[in-house]
Parts: sequence; C-alpha cells; structure tokens
Amino acid sequence: MDRGPGWLYGGVTATMTEPLTAADRCDRCGAQAYVRVVLPVGELLFCAHHSREHAPKFAAMATHVQDETDRLLEEHGAGALR
Ligand SMILES: [Zn+2]
Repeated sequence: MDRGPGWLYGGVTATMTEPLTAADRCDRCGAQAYVRVVLPVGELLFCAHHSREHAPKFAAMATHVQDETDRLLEEHGAGALR
C-alpha cells in the first residue's frame, strides 16, 4: 500500500512552535512579533506589517510559518493592522 510522501513532511509537523510572546521582536523594526518564519538555517520574526512585506519571500524556503496575527486583532482590534 502506497502511503505517499508522508516521510517528507514528518520533520515539519514535528517542529516545536512555542507561542510568540511580548519579548519576541520583529527583526526589521523591533515591534512585537506576531509571525515566526522557520528556515533551515534559523528563524525570523516579523510584526504584522513586516510579515506581509517579507514573509512571501521566505515562504518558498521556510520549513514552518507560525502566523499569530489573529491574536493581534483579538488584543488590539482591527485598527492595529492598518
Ligand atoms: Zn516590523
């Protein structure tokens, strides 16, 4: 029975994804980070603004993207995303 390429994604689902905290800061501007982009060589943190600007560039090589921008809406309202 062919189970498909499940082995290929085993490492991805096993990635530890600790919740982002107020101590996690955007690598570009120092604002609170809400998106973590895990790369084979490390990871990058972005605020909501810079995740929209930069995350698409890293999506192709990222092993995991942790997007917590939904939390930004809950905590600060829709105005925080403007
Ligand atoms: Zn930023």
